[in-house]
Amino acid sequence: MAYQTVNPATNELVKTYLNHTDAQVEEALSAAHRLYKSEWSKGSIKPRLKVLKKLADLIDARAEDLAKVITLEMGKLIGESRAEIQVVAQIARYYAENAERFLAPTSLQTDQGEAWIEHHPIGVLLAVEPWNFPFYQLMRVMAPNLAAGNPIIAKHASIVPHCASAFEQLVTEAGAPKGAWTNLFVTADQVAKLIADKRVQGAAMTGSEGAGSAIAAQAGKYLKKSTLEMGGNDVFVVLEDSDLEKAVEIGTFSRLHVAGQECIGAKRFIVRKEVADAFLEKLTDAFKAVRIGDPMDETTTLGPLSSASARDGLAKQVEAAIKSGATLHYGGHVVDRPGSYFEPTILTHVTRDNPAYFEEFFGPVAQIYVVENDDEIVELANDSNYGLSGVVFSRDIERATKLASKIETGAVWINTFSSTAPELPFGGVKRSGYGRELSELGIKEFVNQKLVLVAKS
Ligand code: NAP
Repeated sequence: MAYQTVNPATNELVKTYLNHTDAQVEEALSAAHRLYKSEWSKGSIKPRLKVLKKLADLIDARAEDLAKVITLEMGKLIGESRAEIQVVAQIARYYAENAERFLAPTSLQTDQGEAWIEHHPIGVLLAVEPWNFPFYQLMRVMAPNLAAGNPIIAKHASIVPHCASAFEQLVTEAGAPKGAWTNLFVTADQVAKLIADKRVQGAAMTGSEGAGSAIAAQAGKYLKKSTLEMGGNDVFVVLEDSDLEKAVEIGTFSRLHVAGQECIGAKRFIVRKEVADAFLEKLTDAFKAVRIGDPMDETTTLGPLSSASARDGLAKQVEAAIKSGATLHYGGHVVDRPGSYFEPTILTHVTRDNPAYFEEFFGPVAQIYVVENDDEIVELANDSNYGLSGVVFSRDIERATKLASKIETGAVWINTFSSTAPELPFGGVKRSGYGRELSELGIKEFVNQKLVLVAKS
């Protein structure tokens, strides 16, 4: 696929980028491997942390320009782009301030002698990343691994080449040496060859199941470590004692944020029967109140999907869901205007034999399920191929936390939307993937946790 910037608000082509040749890939890999073998990777962590601190400052200083690059390229609202840039700087700063502590040796209790774990870089990594948070996804992999000393080769999604180049430029300006972070515009075949190369020691992948499976299979074949951050079909549970106004407000935000193209967005609303009618009515009103328009316009509340193919794919999914028996309660159509817009949509009566029941809808489409008791909530929530995150709304925190413990996902949020912060681990179970990014857990994914033991004298 060609690397191109197409403005999804108009579907006009802005710029085409040239792919990197095999020779350029080899040059990038050699530089990254040389860096891994150098004092930069193996020596003191302090110069690497200095780069991260400078990077955070640079991002803060250029926040507005960077936010505009995101909005122009993948269509999220300008306010959402600003929020993304803010957290991107926070992640760099978080690892700049905490990585040394995370990677310090930890002693072990044993009667064999004096023992401890050291943390060492493992070598060049490959990062394959999606477009929906085009700076944040890169930083989630970059910051902990730069701190740990692992050079990274990045293959970003082909619809966000400007973001990919801008990120690389920032890392260079922050003082990272050649090879620390290299962006490559490469094909799936070139990615497979990179994983097979013995200089590459691991692959971090975020995206769809198809791509995750291809990358994990190749990593498995060549015995490389991988982490997978895949999609989700997250539940948003509303118990009968919830603050309904708040549940609707947060539920609407969580489903329509980034035009519904968020892995941890609320996708399946599971509502107790006692409040189901009221919740649906209020959610419908909230969806009706949405202002569809140019994502650069501050007053817009729902922008376009990332591309025409994403919009058309979603339209087909909704059509198929209705054909298989779901009720179209609200919306359901492509918006009749230039650009990749899709109406905010609510589906009800999605039965287990409907393909929609198990699918991730990566757009502004909510499914509503009505349940009569808490056991049904757990059964429905866990009857999913995915296990990324979820939300429970209730005034009874004890009951909500009991439910949270029973939901098979990497995270559950109570009385708020699933979100992210540098100190909170991010990742899933089942087909949502494996491994964690962010927090102390994230920095330990690609380090050699080496045991050293000095025998008792
Ligand atoms: P995608 O098609 O899988 O693309 C993600 C990345 O993988 C892109 O860089 C893409 O490149 C690349 N890719 C695709 N097939 C490949 C292959 N065979 N070999 C090597 N690279 C390949 O995913 P998407 O549809 O853009 O992203 C949306 C999905 O990501 C959703 O399912 C969403 O839930 C998930 N996601 C998960 C998380 C998380 O943290 N769990 C976060 C964000 C998104 P091209 O663009 O060149 O195809």
